[in-house]
Amino acid sequence: MAKTQGQRSRITTDLDFNADGKQIGYLRLPHSVHRSAYGFLAMPIAIIKNGKGPTVLSMSGNHGDEYEGQIANSKLIRGLNPKDMKGTVIVLPMANFPAAQAGMRTSPIDQGNLNRTFPGDPNGTPTWMISHFIETELMPRADLVLDLHSGGSSLNYIPSALARMGGDKKRDAKIKALLEAFAAPISYVTTALGENRTSTAAAERAGTTIIGTELGGKGTVDIDGTKVAVNGVRGILEHMGIVKETDITRKRPKTRIMEVKDVSYYVYAPHPGLFEPVVKLGATVKKGQTAGFVHFMDDPGREPVEVKFNTNGLVLCERIPGKIERGDCLFHLASDVK
Ligand SMILES: [Zn+2]
Repeated sequence: MAKTQGQRSRITTDLDFNADGKQIGYLRLPHSVHRSAYGFLAMPIAIIKNGKGPTVLSMSGNHGDEYEGQIANSKLIRGLNPKDMKGTVIVLPMANFPAAQAGMRTSPIDQGNLNRTFPGDPNGTPTWMISHFIETELMPRADLVLDLHSGGSSLNYIPSALARMGGDKKRDAKIKALLEAFAAPISYVTTALGENRTSTAAAERAGTTIIGTELGGKGTVDIDGTKVAVNGVRGILEHMGIVKETDITRKRPKTRIMEVKDVSYYVYAPHPGLFEPVVKLGATVKKGQTAGFVHFMDDPGREPVEVKFNTNGLVLCERIPGKIERGDCLFHLASDVK
């Protein structure tokens, strides 16, 4: 057990989690550096509350180069009127604030990948302090956590929602209903256990429920992904009973429920080089089918190496940069839940 277990976060805020109304302000993360001895990092946060009711925590910018969720959350902050609500919405639009400010997956201050640092450390560097604050101060207040990711700079996804299902029928049914309420074109479930440093694991430890997304990527703001995020968050707030359904959201599209079962759904680069893909995002592929070729540009007489898919499925995610190192993820698949 870590020595820091039970220690309160050093991150503070002037906002009142129990006050009704719309508060937009900052978390203060103490950050004493050469240019600012007594300074703090000012991380945006909003608390929008009206009376008793469920609490939803909507996070984005867990990875700083994933933008669709950040825009959806900023629209949520401006668009929500406490008068039309019953309950609380906490919005953390730039969860790993230094990374989101830099437009990078990881923090330029400590190279931390927020989604690999839970449960964090109250005495750690900023990324570890942030994950500790989220797990110990924000998640325990929430009946539901939304963690809005995208493919970022190196990947591109068909806009999707995702969740971990564990086999507990009641809990899994609740998660399925949430995925249907978010209504992304695809929802995929994983059963993979073992990774305990993510927001998913943190939410489970905090005793709450979490839904994630992969909304696009390429380091851009995907038009469809942003729409899916905006409508999805609205759908979730309606499902939780925090806001009322509108005529538009009542006609939400049906999501296609898929799964990513194991490592065979992923295709990795076997060599460094230049990758020539031969299938597109959204294609349906078979086990053994060619995914692409690794070219050796500094040895042009050498034949390219063929890369194959390891299972049947739909191409849900593709790598964006052409240059690859051995071990880079090139594609990942999903298959319909039978
Ligand atoms: Zn991410």
